Amino acid sequence: MKVSYISLSEHRCTIQFYGCNFRCKACFAPNNGAYTEVTPEQLAARLKQFDVAEVMLAGGEPTLYKKELLTFIKLCDTRTILSTNGFLLDSEFIRGMEYANLDEVHIDLKAYSHELHVRYTGHTNQRVLAAIKLLNTSELRFEVATVFIPDFIDNNEIERIAKFLSGIDDTIKYRIIRYVPVDRISRRPTEEEINGAVAIAGKNLCHVISSLEVRSHPLKSMRLYTILP
Ligand code: SF4
Repeated sequence: MKVSYISLSEHRCTIQFYGCNFRCKACFAPNNGAYTEVTPEQLAARLKQFDVAEVMLAGGEPTLYKKELLTFIKLCDTRTILSTNGFLLDSEFIRGMEYANLDEVHIDLKAYSHELHVRYTGHTNQRVLAAIKLLNTSELRFEVATVFIPDFIDNNEIERIAKFLSGIDDTIKYRIIRYVPVDRISRRPTEEEINGAVAIAGKNLCHVISSLEVRSHPLKSMRLYTILP
């Protein structure tokens, strides 16, 4: 599997996998051909050198490497969270993650409106919506997240998403993430806008939080080849 780099914060090691099947307008992931090829065994062995409480599998899109990912999760004896755009989550892979004892899934729902999702990511959201329903019938803990982007994916869309999720189960955890301008599609939302979106989603869902409440800053990032033998 291809890894761009790893980041360390106080409690967490985040592995940034290289490549993605989406083309989001506000993507922050590097797509510059700089990655290290690594086996799940190499990755698990090298991560043991970091004394962290948690490993986050992020990207890019980690599920591009489904088979290797399941092997890595089985080998990893640290709490492990998968962060995914959800497009490649099917029932077989979800069963595999249950069997591998994955601790948690964070799945993005970028937009509920089909046209908006296609405009933002280049793909339909039908498989993501189906994946959320599948996760809800699985043994896996999961939360859904949306990036709040002013005048693009904002209160109207947040309300649609909250209604969709509450139609499945109003106890689904939902996180609203504050957009960080890495491009020119919008501005940084104010704290009031984020809190307002949380309140709107909270009319339909029991557990809504935002990225304002949980902030984790990387202490250090490194290319994986620097820790390989
Ligand atoms: S899903 Fe994430 S990594 Fe993939 S294009 Fe969108 S923002 Fe970038």
